[in-house]
Amino acid sequence: MIDDRLAACIDLARQPGTTDEHRQLRDAIRRFVDREIAPHVDAWDEAGEFPRELHRKAAAIGLLGLGYPEAVGGTPCDTLSRIVATIELARAGSGGLIAGLMTHTIMLGPLLEAGAPALVERIVPAILRGEAIGALAVTEPSGGSDVAQLHTRARAGADGWRLHGSKTFITSGMRADHYLVAARTSGHGAEGISLFLVDRDTPGFSRTPLRKTGWWCSDTAQLHFDDCAVARDRLVGPLDAGFPLVMATCAARAWSASTAK
Ligand SMILES: Cc1cc2nc3c(=O)[nH]c(=O)nc-3n(C[C@H](O)[C@H](O)[C@H](O)COP(=O)(O)OP(=O)(O)OC[C@H]3O[C@@H](n4cnc5c(N)ncnc54)[C@H](O)[C@@H]3O)c2cc1C
Repeated sequence: MIDDRLAACIDLARQPGTTDEHRQLRDAIRRFVDREIAPHVDAWDEAGEFPRELHRKAAAIGLLGLGYPEAVGGTPCDTLSRIVATIELARAGSGGLIAGLMTHTIMLGPLLEAGAPALVERIVPAILRGEAIGALAVTEPSGGSDVAQLHTRARAGADGWRLHGSKTFITSGMRADHYLVAARTSGHGAEGISLFLVDRDTPGFSRTPLRKTGWWCSDTAQLHFDDCAVARDRLVGPLDAGFPLVMATCAARAWSASTAK
């Protein structure tokens, strides 16, 4: 039995863009890449960054909102459309550009799945309009793939949460406006992890840029939480229920990365 995603890949391998909609999408993104990205991407890689304005331009052609609900400003689409979009972006030849421009795709899943409606409404449309940038902060200096062992702590206080710890290798880490942060709220292992939405100007939150051997134009950073005060309503999803939300995002990220290669 072939599932929908595999069937979509097989269709794409036979003939890129199996419907008029797929072909129109491919042509629109191809024009965008040829006009707005390809002529500049080498210079952006050398400079170690790309203009923030590119997020607004990508939003204007519907790229940032592709696959998200209309209610938050997105354009729902099938799996093949997202594959077509990733392949066209990859034609510019810069993995860092894709990682940086599309960084919201690794943080919005848990927020849309489990975030309170008021929080989703305040954060998500602005990101899909390219007016704000979102980042996902899971990996720590002690390890990334073993999410159940993360050490950053969130303690409940009278006025909300206090975060202590650090994250590393965070894409869009310096310039994001909103960070979805995984932190330990109880116990050991996978059961005691929760997610928090932290804004860039939150007291006790700071960032340090990282240099890399590749993905030069993608901003990558270390994050520091030093008694960082996070309001009670910034908990995303139920307490201690962050692990499965993060793992679902990891699976989607691996699939997307394999498309871009
Ligand atoms: C350029 C770049 C951008 C990134 N962007 C982000 C981002 O935006 N947000 C974010 O949160 N992270 C980000 N990461 C981190 C990335 O997700 C991690 O590098 C990845 O999860 C691996 O973690 P690690 O590098 O700490 O390696 P480790 O976790 O130390 O793993 C090293 C090896 O050990 C294996 N291993 C680890 N634990 C176990 C175990 N329990 N059992 C068996 N094998 C195990 C792993 O499979 C791997 O082969 C980024 C990384 C890079 C390089």
